[in-house]
Amino acid sequence: MRPPAHILVLGGTTEARRLAATLTGTPGETSGDTSGDTSGVRVTTSLAGRVSRPGDLPGEVRVGGFGGTEGLAAWLREHRVSALVDATHPFAATISEHAVRAADAAGVPAVLLRRPGWLPGPGDRWHDAASLDGAARRLPALGNRVFLTTGRTGLAAFAALDGLRFLVRSVEPPAPPLPRHAEVLLARGPFTVEGETALLRDRRIDVLVTKDSGGTATAAKLTAARTLGVPVLVVRRPPPPAGATVADDVPQVLALLRAHGLPD
Ligand code: NAP
Repeated sequence: MRPPAHILVLGGTTEARRLAATLTGTPGETSGDTSGDTSGVRVTTSLAGRVSRPGDLPGEVRVGGFGGTEGLAAWLREHRVSALVDATHPFAATISEHAVRAADAAGVPAVLLRRPGWLPGPGDRWHDAASLDGAARRLPALGNRVFLTTGRTGLAAFAALDGLRFLVRSVEPPAPPLPRHAEVLLARGPFTVEGETALLRDRRIDVLVTKDSGGTATAAKLTAARTLGVPVLVVRRPPPPAGATVADDVPQVLALLRAHGLPD
C-alpha cells in the first residue's frame, strides 16, 4: 500500500490553519471547498515558534526553524513530503525564499499561498511606504498620536521619533528598542470595527500605521480609520520570490495540488 500524501504547510497565518483544516477534513474550520477526497492525507504545519500560545492546529505540528534552505530541503526529503505549501505571512520574506529554493532542490512541488493585499476604498486617506524605515520617515508629517500595528519586530525604525506618541499593538511583547513615548497594548485579533473605532477615538489617534498584510480578518482597523477620517500609512509587502507559484486562497491551493495529483 502506498503511504499517504504528506503535505507540509509553512504556517503562522489564518490561511495556514484553514488549509490544514480543509486538508484534514476538520469540521467547522474548512475553506468551504470540500470537493475531493482528502482522506489519507498527512498534513504537517510548521511554525517558527515566535508565538508562545499558537493554539491547536489540525494535523501534525512541528515548531522551529529548519536551518536555512538546506535544512528545509533535508526535512522535505527525510519526511517524504509530497508537496509544500508556503502559507506564511506576506512579510515573512526569508522563509518564502527558502521554501522556493528548498522545494526545487528536493524536487517537491510548491505553492505560495498569499492572500491579496488591501486596496483603498472611497473615503480612505492612505499613504504608501516601501518599508518600515520609509514609514518612519513619512510619519511626522502625517500625525502626532500614532497607532502602530506593524507587529512586534522592526520597531527600531520608529525609535528615534521622540516627538510622537505611540500606541503599539502586538500579540507578543515588542522587541526593543521602542520609541520613547510608547504604550504597548498586547492583543490578538480578530478585532471588530466597533472595537477599533472606539480605540482610535478614545486614544485620539491621528494616524494609523499598518503593514499591507491583506485578508479580511484584520481589516477592521482600516474601516475604523475610514469612518473617523484618520490617515493610514501602509507599508507595502515584499514581492513574492522569483519562480513561486502563487495562489490567492485555499481553493486555489487545492486546485494546484490536484493538478499535481494531490491529495491522492
Ligand atoms: P522570516 O523572517 O521570513 O523567517 C526567518 C526565519 O524564521 C526563517 O529563515 C526560518 O528559519 C524561520 N521560520 C519562519 N517561518 C517559519 C515557519 N513557518 N516554520 C519554520 N521556520 C520558520 O519570518 P518572520 O517574518 O520572522 O515570521 C515568522 C513567522 O511568523 C512566520 O511563520 C510568519 O507566517 C509569522 N508571521 C509573520 C508576520 C510578519 O509580519 N513578518 C506577521 C504575522 C505572522 P530557518 O532559516 O532556520 O529555517
